Amino acid sequence: MRTSEARMRTVSSPAAMRRLSARWRARGLSVGFVPTMGALHRGHLSLVERARAENDRVVVSVFVNPTQFGPQEDFSRYPRPFRRDASLCRKAGADALYHPAPGVMYPPGFSTFVEIPDLSAPLCGRSRPGHFRGVATVVLKLLNQVSPDRLYLGEKDFQQLTVLRRMVRDLDLPVAVRGCRIHRERDGLAMSSRNAYLTPQERALAPRLRAALGLCAAAARRGSAPAAALGAGRRALRAIPGVRLEYLELVDPETLQPVRRLRGKMRLLTALRIGRTRLIDNIAIKV
Ligand code: AMP
Repeated sequence: MRTSEARMRTVSSPAAMRRLSARWRARGLSVGFVPTMGALHRGHLSLVERARAENDRVVVSVFVNPTQFGPQEDFSRYPRPFRRDASLCRKAGADALYHPAPGVMYPPGFSTFVEIPDLSAPLCGRSRPGHFRGVATVVLKLLNQVSPDRLYLGEKDFQQLTVLRRMVRDLDLPVAVRGCRIHRERDGLAMSSRNAYLTPQERALAPRLRAALGLCAAAARRGSAPAAALGAGRRALRAIPGVRLEYLELVDPETLQPVRRLRGKMRLLTALRIGRTRLIDNIAIKV
């Protein structure tokens, strides 16, 4: 029986993280890595559990990365329940919780960023300029510090997954990327740390969001033209009181470019606001 529950270490400096990972690798142990911003929920834990099943050692990072938030976004109010997160990681079987301080990750004079422009510009990139540059930069730094064999990312953040897969490919990073399916609440709402911002009235709209996406996906699967399927989906989303649609798009899952014809594997992606809360979701479609 594993005893990691009792032994999970909390690591807060890049040097200590590197030493720990080097010791493991010197013993021939494989390392799985799950980067997060904390406020952990079942979706995050499903990634930890998969990493647990596929690796000898598992590292979870909790770091609310300032460079991926815009000036008007929720960086300062993003939830940071660190003790609860640590307890959840321990129970899920993590061997190390990596929790670097912002000043350690971005010391004075920090000025190097990773850009993946073609995949970062569309979809969420339109309303969040600089977001994926911040994500790619912090994930590259974390990969250099943790040196994992496998990187676990959720399909929930599909554009992020696509951007990071491309970074790993383009920069020859020695890590295998594992995309993990979306974990949802019973009524279909994709689990997210930001769901905690929703008022009970806003939270109650989740089944309508799910229905609107399902309507669009079903139309696409039936072979409607992309414009017709998206039109139906957009109308259904806009009809939900309090919802402001940012985008609903049907894209190629590798290039993130809009599809012209419904063929092969596609992804239906949306971002919208309910009140003050921004939510994203997506569905795989194969015709
Ligand atoms: P975050 O803490 O929001 O940066 O998310 C950390 C990781 O967990 C990312 O790879 C997310 O895609 C993933 N994730 C977040 N929510 C879910 C979910 N509901 N299902 C699966 N993975 C998720």
